[in-house]
Amino acid sequence: MSSIVLFGPPGAGKGTQAERITISTGLPQVSTGDMLRAAVKQKTPTGLEAKGYMDAGLLVPDSIIIDLIRERILLPDAKNGVMFDGFPRTIPQAEALSEITNVSHVIAIEVPDERIVDRICGRYSCGDCGLVFHEIFNPVPTSGCECGTFTEKRRADDNKETVQSRLAAYHEQTSPLAEWYESRGIFHRIDGDREINSISEDILLALAK
Ligand code: ADP
Ligand code: ADP
Ligand code: ZN
Repeated sequence: MSSIVLFGPPGAGKGTQAERITISTGLPQVSTGDMLRAAVKQKTPTGLEAKGYMDAGLLVPDSIIIDLIRERILLPDAKNGVMFDGFPRTIPQAEALSEITNVSHVIAIEVPDERIVDRICGRYSCGDCGLVFHEIFNPVPTSGCECGTFTEKRRADDNKETVQSRLAAYHEQTSPLAEWYESRGIFHRIDGDREINSISEDILLALAK
């Protein structure tokens, strides 16, 4: 059993690529951001604690995240590994992960900071099926979403102010992980400032290595 990590700044396209790669690999997508948003919505103790950090664009404490992952990995669909999206984001999270499951590939989607604000401020999703779209770069088809219905949903933290804190958190706390994984020989850099399909093709090639 081995898992894949999708790594990159907020708005790099991790979720978009996860939707596609999960079809090719059969590995379920595990997004800590999605899990936290579900917890916030349901007002669970985890959600109540995480909300303030998320609204401020700060990372949620490692202990909360590691507990979520420990539980998630026990579900039956994770038996052959999973595709992590937005986890790990700190060195302590990566250390904890190395004791929980084997990671075969870390796919780093690289996008320059100056592109990130436009990506995030134009992001919306289908409230019915969760597919991610973009006002300009990847709009919902005029015929509607592939799930058959469509309700536009926006994230509370997808605004100009919070993006700056999220980018700062990425550079300070998450980007040091690149070196950590590079030294383990499983780090693959992908140019994420291109057309969505070309990126998916390169990711599949990297996963075959
Ligand atoms: P992440 O999961 O890394 O935060 P998303 O997959 O949600 O990123 O993508 C952020 C936004 O950018 C979304 O609105 C998405 O539709 C759009 N997007 C994703 N990949 C690309 C790309 N290659 N080019 C332009 N826009 C993209
Ligand atoms: P994006 O890919 O756009 O940064 P996510 O959905 O991955 O957004 O994360 C949204 C927010 O949830 C983050 O800004 C952070 O507050 C919290 N979060 C998600 N994953 C983690 C993690 N692994 N560690 C700490 N905080 C996290
Ligand atoms: Zn839909």
